[in-house]
Amino acid sequence: SKFKDGLAKTRSVFTDRVAELFTRRQKIDEAFYEELEEILIGADVGVNTVMELMDDLRAEVKKRKIEQPSQLQPILSEKLMNMLRGGGEDAGLRTNSSGITVILFVGVNGVGKTTTIGKLAWRFKQQGKSVLLAAGDTFRAGAIEQLQVWGERVGVDVIRQEAGSDPAAVMYDAAQEAKRRNVDVLLCDTAGRLQNKVNLMEELAKIHRVIQREIPGAPHETLLVLDAATGQNALQQAKLFGEKTGVTGLVLTKLDGTAKGGIVIAIRNEMALPVKFVGLGEQMDDLQEFDAEQFVHALFA
Ligand code: GDP
Repeated sequence: SKFKDGLAKTRSVFTDRVAELFTRRQKIDEAFYEELEEILIGADVGVNTVMELMDDLRAEVKKRKIEQPSQLQPILSEKLMNMLRGGGEDAGLRTNSSGITVILFVGVNGVGKTTTIGKLAWRFKQQGKSVLLAAGDTFRAGAIEQLQVWGERVGVDVIRQEAGSDPAAVMYDAAQEAKRRNVDVLLCDTAGRLQNKVNLMEELAKIHRVIQREIPGAPHETLLVLDAATGQNALQQAKLFGEKTGVTGLVLTKLDGTAKGGIVIAIRNEMALPVKFVGLGEQMDDLQEFDAEQFVHALFA
């Protein structure tokens, strides 16, 4: 499956090492736990999450009187699955069944925001939906052009103004145009500069207000895009944006190129935010709806 191919690098440092450990070691002792802990941390599952996981595993071993490491495999899978679900079920994308669905994308430059918007636009088009894009990153040179390129590739229009203009004005235009055309989906790019954080957060809040005012009930999702290959940095960004910008879900990109796939577990466990999509490549169809069971299955099966 695509998930499995995309997770190849993570499998090589995480799954293969876990499997090797579980067959090599004959009993569950301190040395075993230490080695498992090391593997998990090496896969960027994150110290806090690893500690929680290890406590859980120890408790389970005691309770079920498990002696063989191999018996731990299904328990580890189950614990990871629970963490990835964050207690609930996988949450699909929230859409507006009776009007325009507005999705706002936030995140730091270079994480794959534009690419994700392009992929999602293509996905909606495949589903027969009409899509409009809003070039809300008026700050970074090239961001507008880049979105335009994706718009042309996918065959959807981009509402834009020149670089340096007020992003909230672009959003206002985009909302008007979305209503005039009565499109199904409006996907909005935003700036991701990290210098001048305060200003960026204010800018995002203003964009939110404009969209809310122009299209009642919108935005239906505010998706924070994170680059999985940056490992613990992605977790830091999740904390920074998650608290301030009304984020409702996460997209984790570039899982295909990294061995740090464990970061998905750390972020899901430490942030009370569902992972909605994962990016598994640079092409239009390389965006996968996140499914905890499939993810764990792809790791271990
Ligand atoms: P933005 O600055 O956040 O808009 O980032 P871009 O969308 O321009 O993406 C930055 C780079 O990451 C580009 O070269 C993309 O092709 C690449 N990229 C984005 N998503 C993925 C992904 O899921 N996998 C891989 N391998 N590359 C990706």
